[in-house]
Amino acid sequence: MDDAAKVNLLDLDRDGLERFFADELGEKRFRAHQVMKWIYHRHVCDFAEMSDLGKDLRAKLEARAVVMPPPVILDKPSADGTHKWLLGMDQANAIEAVFIPDKGRGTLCVSSQVGCGLNCQFCSTATQGFNRNLSTAEIIGQVWVAAKHLGNVPHKQRKLTNVVMMGMGEPLLNFDNVVRAMSIMRDDYGFGLANKRVTLSTAGLVPMIDRLSEVSDVSLAVSLHAPNDDLRTELVPLNKKYPIDELLDACVRYAMRKPKTSITFEYTMMQGVNDLPEHARALAKLMRRIDAKVQRANTAKVNLIPFNPFAGTRFERSEETRIRDFQKLLLDAGVLTMVRRTRGDDIDAACGQLKGQVMDKTRRQAEFKRKTHIDSITRIN
Ligand code: SAH
Repeated sequence: MDDAAKVNLLDLDRDGLERFFADELGEKRFRAHQVMKWIYHRHVCDFAEMSDLGKDLRAKLEARAVVMPPPVILDKPSADGTHKWLLGMDQANAIEAVFIPDKGRGTLCVSSQVGCGLNCQFCSTATQGFNRNLSTAEIIGQVWVAAKHLGNVPHKQRKLTNVVMMGMGEPLLNFDNVVRAMSIMRDDYGFGLANKRVTLSTAGLVPMIDRLSEVSDVSLAVSLHAPNDDLRTELVPLNKKYPIDELLDACVRYAMRKPKTSITFEYTMMQGVNDLPEHARALAKLMRRIDAKVQRANTAKVNLIPFNPFAGTRFERSEETRIRDFQKLLLDAGVLTMVRRTRGDDIDAACGQLKGQVMDKTRRQAEFKRKTHIDSITRIN
């Protein structure tokens, strides 16, 4: 059997791996746990090195399975400790994952799709178009590459403490693979992260938020970016399908199902677009309405993200003072509000700057180039 026909064990969560051992190999289920520890705690891919497995089992595994993380095409450290990897997904496509160390924690930003189809107007991934969903192996493989690079050992040498599904793509449009990968992230035989330290960020797919609440206990982040439907539809076209009221009601349901959890609302600050005092006041109202419906203070939190520019964009980052004023208005209204520090600027590793290499199937790259060309002509005139 050549490698392509073998099962990549990174595609299976604990359940799947136990079944593979029992049903396919005729082995005891606990063997799956041993193998997971080799893969995720010791970063070993070669069955020959898995010394507590018998010779026969190792031979069976070699015949039927592989452990194949994505190849690292480019490895880019930043001056501020941020680290970006360009990872090969197939012959034509590559995606990016970013590690952001901070006081007492290390966060990995993970991609879920090659490109993205949602076309949020202020996101550089959108300009790349969309190619395909990532497999479970390709998603958990990003964590594996970072963990190996960092020498991360769950429960002992914790370097990687948080994962955010905030890289390229819309994770809720790749539901099963994302949920499976997040289960490996939180499994003690996997990366052993606490539920609340794994965050899924969505542009707001209402039915999928409900589905997520049934199968997973991860933290939820919602990309809001505007406090009214007209503006949000302009920035996040998905809003036409799932307008703000429906989206926030789904968030209320999520929070009611998960006692103690809060929901983070991401709000990218763009000068003169969504950063005026009237926007802050309207946003505060929406956030307070969620807290009232859930009957829990501070269920809704706001994360202000200074806009990160990219070539050809028509938006600008809000001035520092505007961001502070906006934050103060929200805080004064009783809404917990943080401003996200921009990291990895020098390696284009900040939010919304991930590009990778996408074989665009949507023709969005061509459309974006044409539009920015027209924009630049009108600006000159
Ligand atoms: N599709 C998911 C996850 C990917 S984006 C989602 O929409 O949530 C992760 C976050 O970065 C989102 O909140 C997104 O809106 C934000 N973002 C996108 N482009 C940005 C940019 N240029 N500057 C700052 N934040 C951006």
